[in-house]
Amino acid sequence: MKNFDVIVIGAGPGGYVCAIRAAQLGLQTACIDAWLAPNGKPALGGTCLNVGCIPSKALLDSSHHVHDLAHGLAAHGITVGSVEVDIAKMMARKDKVVQNLTRGVAGLLRKNKVATFAGHGVLQAAAGGDGHTVEVRAHDGTSERLQARHVVVATGSVPVAIPVAPVDGDRIVDNAGALSFSAVPARLGVIGAGVIGLELGSVWRRLGSEVVILEAMPELLPPVDRQIAREAGKSFEKQGLEIRLGAKVTGTEVNANCVEVRFEDASGSHVVEVDRLVVAVGRRANTEGLAPENAGVALDDRGRVIVDDHCRTNVPGIWAIGDVVRGPMLAHKASEEGVAVAELIAGQAAHIDHALVPWVIYTHPEIAWVGQTEHALRETGREFRVGTFPFMASGRAQGAGDTEGMVKILADAASDEILGVHIYGAHASELVAEAVTAMAFRASAEDLARIVHAHPTLAEALHEAALAVDGRAIHF
Ligand code: FAD
Ligand code: AMP
Repeated sequence: MKNFDVIVIGAGPGGYVCAIRAAQLGLQTACIDAWLAPNGKPALGGTCLNVGCIPSKALLDSSHHVHDLAHGLAAHGITVGSVEVDIAKMMARKDKVVQNLTRGVAGLLRKNKVATFAGHGVLQAAAGGDGHTVEVRAHDGTSERLQARHVVVATGSVPVAIPVAPVDGDRIVDNAGALSFSAVPARLGVIGAGVIGLELGSVWRRLGSEVVILEAMPELLPPVDRQIAREAGKSFEKQGLEIRLGAKVTGTEVNANCVEVRFEDASGSHVVEVDRLVVAVGRRANTEGLAPENAGVALDDRGRVIVDDHCRTNVPGIWAIGDVVRGPMLAHKASEEGVAVAELIAGQAAHIDHALVPWVIYTHPEIAWVGQTEHALRETGREFRVGTFPFMASGRAQGAGDTEGMVKILADAASDEILGVHIYGAHASELVAEAVTAMAFRASAEDLARIVHAHPTLAEALHEAALAVDGRAIHF
């Protein structure tokens, strides 16, 4: 039996960050992870680095270059010959980015003297005393036992499977498959117009696929500001993404050359034929093989580990963070919970403001937001003022030839405190950081309006939207 102060189960952005912070605080830390790369070797970094945030952004960037070359540069007076895409090379680049980063995580854990174990961590029944035991079941069938006063469950999430479209890894794939096609499918179907469906649909559309996205809900992107979701919907259509709302997939049939996808909408039953089908209907908490019941750790009705505001489970000394618990399934949320838990274990004070977790959808233009939406505020009856500023009026956006979208700031009508910031436009993912910082310091729209912003920058649009809250935008 090996003894530690902390055992972290899972090395995604929740787990590995927690392990590093715990080690920084002087705690003897172990981190167990089960992920195996396609070459059969352990790869740290979880969903995010291996089949999520990083490879999807690598392909979004590659495919954006292709789109720009083919459609965006002529207006700048740049003409190129025919654009050719080497998918194998594009995939190899993406794989290399993933490999660099997963190896980087291994290096960081080593540097911080975190002991890593490749295999499944299985919680064990309490054996008395105040420690917890975790069995590591290695991939070669051997096992060993670790003990610690604190265990952090960071086992992440897995794609939701639907019986009407069983993933076969060939014609019907999940996110991992859709990030590794060896050729551009002529016709691509996507089930689910959520963040993942839209990002993956965008990648393959830009590379030349005809894309149809089937979405059961009647509205596009329910969590997004309504005005922005409407504008984005129109833009996706212009880009050639066919999004069918209110379309519930009821069955699929894999034939020799295609997949027939049956769906129902208000006008009846339909069939579309596609070459590949991506199932992107959401993700669910992953506790497979963890055996939470052994240690008496309670799960909710959606299979998530139940935690309080400080990520404590019902069992003293067992904590849980990231996608396996409540809250948005976002890498940065998982990491911040990891830091907070390590600090709490070390006896420090820690707090995560879940209300200030930013969201980003990496389509083009990007959609990013933090805080409350207009429709949510209306439902609560809170009085607020709105300031908007279109990128069309931004000198920097005009210069770049990327003028779609806007910034929208919602501020309390009485105190002027910023309650929500919604950005739709190029680099929204970067711009939202200023909004998060402002809101973390409980800034008013007036505060933001009085801060000097460099010219010409896209960030000036935030400044102008803050001025617009008080009806005094200069450039619009
Ligand atoms: P995970 O990253 O899922 O890691 C969990 C790890 O635990 C895995 O390595 C798993 O193998 C391991 N594990 C599970 N059970 C055990 C066990 N019993 N023993 C040992 N190891 C175990 N989020 C963003 O913020 N931005 C994005 O741009 C973004 N893009 C995404 C794109 C796609 C296509 C997908 C699928 C997801 C994306 N996400 C994005 C979501 C993000 O990947 C997750 O929110 C994040 O990975 C959650 O981190 P985690 O540490 O909780 O879990
Ligand atoms: P997200 O949870 O953001 O990844 O989005 C997944 C989306 O898939 C949701 O908007 C669901 O409404 C949608 N969805 C789930 N099941 C189906 C189905 N059978 N047909 C079409 N869309 C679906």
